[in-house]
Amino acid sequence: MSKRLYPHKRVRYWYAYDIDDICALFADFGLHPQTIRKWIKNGLKTIDAGKPALVYGYDLIAYLKKNNTSNKCKTAFDQMYCMGCQDARHIFRNKIAAEQTSQFLKVQGVCRECKKTMFKSYKLADFPALRNKFVLVGVSELYDFEVPTDKTHIQAQEQNATSESMQGELF
Ligand SMILES: [Zn+2]
Repeated sequence: MSKRLYPHKRVRYWYAYDIDDICALFADFGLHPQTIRKWIKNGLKTIDAGKPALVYGYDLIAYLKKNNTSNKCKTAFDQMYCMGCQDARHIFRNKIAAEQTSQFLKVQGVCRECKKTMFKSYKLADFPALRNKFVLVGVSELYDFEVPTDKTHIQAQEQNATSESMQGELF
C-alpha cells in the first residue's frame, strides 16, 4: 500500500472536524472516510466516543505529522522508497543526484529492481555521509543503463572525487 502525505498545514488548529470535514479537506487526494476510520484505530484522537466522531484540528495535525515522519523512517539511510516496488529499495549503481534547497537535500536515484526514479529528502548535514555512501552524478547520468556494471570500488571513488569538484559550487 502506498502511503500518502497529507499536508497538515491545511488543518486549522482550533477547529473540530467530523470525518466528512476531513475528507473535504483532502478532497484532491481522494481521501476516503474508511482511511480516517483507520487513522482513528491507529491512534488519531477523537473528542469523545460519540458518533459521528469529531477530531480536534490539533490532534489531526499531530497525527499527520507523526504519520509523515514514520513513513520517512521506513527506509535505511542508503535506501529510498520506490513507488514502483512500493517498498524500500537500494539505489541502482549507487548513483545519486542531489539538489540543495534551503532546508534539505533533494536526492534522486534509480531503483535497483524496477529502474523507476526514487526521491528522498536528506538533511543538509547528511551530505558528507551521502558522499561516502554514493556516487554523486548529474541527473542525466542516473539513467545510462547501457554502461557495463563492472565498476570497481576504487573507480567509483575516483568518480566520486570528480563529482565532488563538480558539485562544489552547489554546496
Ligand atoms: Zn522499484
